[in-house]
Amino acid sequence: MNGGIRRSNPELREAYSTLHAKAFVATEGRVKRNIDVAIVGAGPAGCTLAALLAQRGIRTVVFDDDKRPDLLVGESLLPTVIGLMRRLGIEERVAAFSTYKPGVGFLSRDGSRLDFFFPQKAIKGMPNYAYNIPRPEFDNLLRARAEELGVVFVKQRAKLEIGSEGREIQLAAESLEAAPEFAGQHPKLLVDSTGRARAFARLLGVGATRGTRNDVAYFAHFEDFEDESARDGQVVITTLKRGWSWRIPLPGRLSVGVVIDKSALKGHGETAEDRLESIIDSEPSLAAAGKNRRRVTQVMTYTNYQLISERGHGPGWVAMGDAYGFVDPMLSPGLFMAMHSADLLDSKVFAQGQGILDQPEKMAKGFDKIFRELRDWHEAWGEMIEYFYDGRMYALHAAGEQLCQKYGERALPRMMERHLTSQITRLLSGVATRSPYGRNLLKFSVKHLVWDVAPPEEYAIRA
Ligand SMILES: Cc1cc2nc3c(=O)[nH]c(=O)nc-3n(C[C@H](O)[C@H](O)[C@H](O)COP(=O)(O)OP(=O)(O)OC[C@H]3O[C@@H](n4cnc5c(N)ncnc54)[C@H](O)[C@@H]3O)c2cc1C
Repeated sequence: MNGGIRRSNPELREAYSTLHAKAFVATEGRVKRNIDVAIVGAGPAGCTLAALLAQRGIRTVVFDDDKRPDLLVGESLLPTVIGLMRRLGIEERVAAFSTYKPGVGFLSRDGSRLDFFFPQKAIKGMPNYAYNIPRPEFDNLLRARAEELGVVFVKQRAKLEIGSEGREIQLAAESLEAAPEFAGQHPKLLVDSTGRARAFARLLGVGATRGTRNDVAYFAHFEDFEDESARDGQVVITTLKRGWSWRIPLPGRLSVGVVIDKSALKGHGETAEDRLESIIDSEPSLAAAGKNRRRVTQVMTYTNYQLISERGHGPGWVAMGDAYGFVDPMLSPGLFMAMHSADLLDSKVFAQGQGILDQPEKMAKGFDKIFRELRDWHEAWGEMIEYFYDGRMYALHAAGEQLCQKYGERALPRMMERHLTSQITRLLSGVATRSPYGRNLLKFSVKHLVWDVAPPEEYAIRA
């Protein structure tokens, strides 16, 4: 969709050429370097990009009003985020306030359990563990790191307006005045990392493809709530009568969330607090695990989060993280995708040197490539998540268990089961989510290796 936008849209093509001409004039005779990039939104995507650009010597300003709630979703990470943490030099500081995460377990309605642990050895240099993070601390740390590297933060919401001089969107005069570092000059690139606010897309009327689910998520932190982790720190996803729940172990507390179709809220009260408590009480497995629970935070609500933008960049701007798209929280791809999109921008566009900022058309070609890759990632996550929602993953597991019991530990079925589990772990962990081999093997297995077990619909997560 995105790749051909500039080719198929004459107005955008024209705007890119105008911007190119302006950039050329602006570079001529310049004495002092002004701010190159302004990032709007200091979440994981925005702060990661700011820090990476600072490491390259690209001058960056970040706008964010710093009004972060005490509680934020995005607490369970994937191993693929660790590499970036190391590049930013923050892993030790993250480990100090987080819980070590060895994997994830899935409990189905019939009581069966699928446990996935990140492999014994690192895969292709990728660490074999992750962390569960208190989100506000994590975001604060990313921001502090970016500041240490020289990024300027402006503590206010950026005011945006439709652009002029070839830019599709721009900072309003009052935002330009908010940071003396701009010296009255508009930055060459604006980055939308405003998360689900999608500030740029909304102003420009860029549409989005929505997911099929109509879920609402409620969550809070609890003490004395059993995590039912098979190993300390393991995240546990439980299929509910309608919807599903997460349990994410954090230092000293457990994050518990329920995700259900809006139509299933009837009878669970009117407030977010009532609904979360009532849903927990109505689910035998959660009610038992939480019989002594004490809620120690407010309850947060999230809706309408499955959404991918129809376009991720235009003349003078680019979007990343949730501002571009988010598929679904079940497999925790959000922070990885947010931070990876920053990494892609950095390594595929800005690695070409600072001069790229004066070549908007070349930059746009780089963006096209990145968004092709990001769409492929979203598609791969969507495919993976579907196996859990529609019950095929649980049916495959049941069939595997049955075969292994029948033929024993040393027989071929057990060897196949081990290979398949290791491939699924690679798909789930972000290490090889887009791997054609793993995806085809899974597709083949759910189609041809499942018999004599309940049909997938029996395990499906009901809306
Ligand atoms: C129910 C649910 C559960 C989830 N669980 C997980 C999980 O376990 N693991 C995981 O990895 N992901 C999870 N996610 C997804 C994850 O939270 C997001 O993908 C991630 O936060 C995206 O990061 P981001 O930087 O793109 O956006 P955000 O984290 O949303 O950051 C955007 C920032 O921009 C700021 N902002 C907005 N508008 C403006 C403006 N006009 N000017 C200045 N600043 C602005 C905001 O205040 C915010 O600080 C979950 C999502 C949901 C809905």
